Formats: sequence, C-alpha cells, structure tokens
Amino acid sequence: MKIIVCIKQVVDTNDIKWTPNNTIDREGAQSIVNPCDMLAIETALKIKENTPQHTTITAISMGPKQAESALKTAIAMGCDEAFLICDKKFSGSDTVATSRTLSATIKKVCPNFDLIICGQYASDGDTAQTGPSIAQKLDIEQITYVTEPLLDEALNENKIKVIRKADEVIEVIETQLPALICVDDCPYEPRPIKINGYIHSQDQEIKMLTADDIGLSSEETGIKGSPTWVAKAFRSVSNRKNEIITPQNTKEALEFLSSAINSTKILEENKEQIDG
Ligand code: FAD
Repeated sequence: MKIIVCIKQVVDTNDIKWTPNNTIDREGAQSIVNPCDMLAIETALKIKENTPQHTTITAISMGPKQAESALKTAIAMGCDEAFLICDKKFSGSDTVATSRTLSATIKKVCPNFDLIICGQYASDGDTAQTGPSIAQKLDIEQITYVTEPLLDEALNENKIKVIRKADEVIEVIETQLPALICVDDCPYEPRPIKINGYIHSQDQEIKMLTADDIGLSSEETGIKGSPTWVAKAFRSVSNRKNEIITPQNTKEALEFLSSAINSTKILEENKEQIDG
C-alpha cells in the first residue's frame, strides 16, 4: 500500500506577532508542523503497522527551504521518504495553486498511490480547501472530518472504512481506494520522536522539487496561478464585555435581561446618531 501524507509548516500560534500591516510577522517566529498534519502522519503510521502487505509512507510539503525541518519530523516519526516542493514561482499561491502544485507532485512522485492523508485544516490559513481540492484534481473519492480509520476492516479489499465526525453527527463511511481523507479530532496523539528516529532523520535526504520538475509553468502556480485576491487584511478586535450578575430570584434576572436587551436595541436603533 502506498500512502502520501501532505504536511504544511505553520507558525506556532502561541508565538504569533503582527506587522503594522496586520500580516503575520514570520521573522524569528517558531515554526511547527501543522497540528492536524501531525495527526495525519500518526494515522498513516497506524495504518502501516496494521497492514500486512508492504506499506510505504511518502510525506510531501510545498513551502520555503525551512519547511525541510517539518519533513525531517515526518521521517523521524517513521515516514519512509519526503519531498519538499520549493520554488520562488510558488510564492503567492492561494489554495487553488497550492492544490494544483501538490496534485502535480503526487502524479510525478507516486502516481500509483492508494491513499492520501491531509489534515482537515491548517492552523494559519484554515480554509480546509486544500485536501478536497487535491482529491478533485486527481479525480478520486474524498472523506473529510475523519477522526479514525477502522484498521481491522476493509483495507485489505482495496477499500478504506473510517469514522467521520461532522458537527454532532458520527458516520461510518467506506470507500474504494485510491482515496483522500482529511483527519481531525483523532482519539490518539501523534507519537513522540525517539532518539534513533531523530538520528535516522538527520541522515535522510529530503528530495527537492521545483516547478519545472513537476511540469508546472509560472502561469499555473504562484501569484499568476491564483484566482484569489485579498481585498483587506485586519485583526478583528472584540469589544464584547462580560458582566456577572447575581439576581436574588427569577423576577430580578428577567428584569435585568429585559433592560439589557432594550438598551442594546436603543443603541442599535440610534447607532448612526451615536456614531455621528
Ligand atoms: P488548508 O486547506 O486549511 O489545509 C488543509 C490541509 O492541506 C493541511 O492540513 C495539509 O495536509 C494540506 N496542506 C495545506 N497546505 C499545504 C502545503 N503547503 N504543503 C503540503 N500540504 C499542505 N502562503 C504562503 O506560505 N506564502 C505565500 O506567498 C502565500 N500567498 C498567498 C496569496 C494569496 C492570494 C492567498 C489567498 C494565500 C496565500 N498564502 C500564502 C496562503 C496559502 O495559499 C495557503 O496557506 C495554502 O493554500 C493552504 O491553504 P490553508 O492554509 O487554508 O490550508
């Protein structure tokens, strides 16, 4: 079985600073593997441990040179090989161009794959579009919001069966391979890296690919291949306030709520005058 895991290096959200233009200040910011993608790697490793036939896991990432360290993490955890798709031509890629680049890479490096595993969303961009868009471009089945593959079932018959949790609904879905799944909210943690895994990863080559290597022109990727444009970027500032009230009885509580709702209404109705 051939598994591909798509991983993205993101800025650690505990360490985000902003530029005066309200873009993320990446200078010196700590980079990590996107948390959902750590679950994607763990899911791939669990499948590998449970498949009797020979299974290989290929990790791929599109990003700057520094994303090599994210792929080293994937190798240290147990992935077999890793590709970094890295080229100035990719700069400015939106989700359309990103998924085009990733699907072109998959066709190039592992055309006879069985399963692609993505995170459900990236903690920085958070569109959750990349996985489904790769599946659409490769014309394969996709299952999103997967929490867990059912390892003892189906995989041997060239199918995969998974648990999917969307909102409060839990579904069990089976599909034919090749397929793509997006994982989130798994009941297991990514395994910790062992010292020999770390040493092994330092010796492993991360294979680099450019736009030319995967056969994409500069019209198809980067800013030119991206139909999305950002009209405005801003940080939303919440001016909500909490007030704790301690009414003695229900009547007092209702009186308070009623006056609060009325004052909100009055403020909304007279917003223009108040702002003026
Ligand atoms: P999601 O769709 O939320 O991610 C879901 C999953 O897809 C991830 O968990 C992972 O498995 C996979 N995935 C996502 N991205 C990658 C990746 N790069 N490699 C491997 N797997 C991946 N970002 C930049 O870094 N540099 C830029 O110059 C840049 N320019 C942009 C310009 C525009 C106009 C726009 C709209 C966005 C730009 N971005 C840029 C952001 C970039 O487009 C997105 O980060 C990227 O398309 C992925 O979308 P997302 O972050 O919403 O990921």
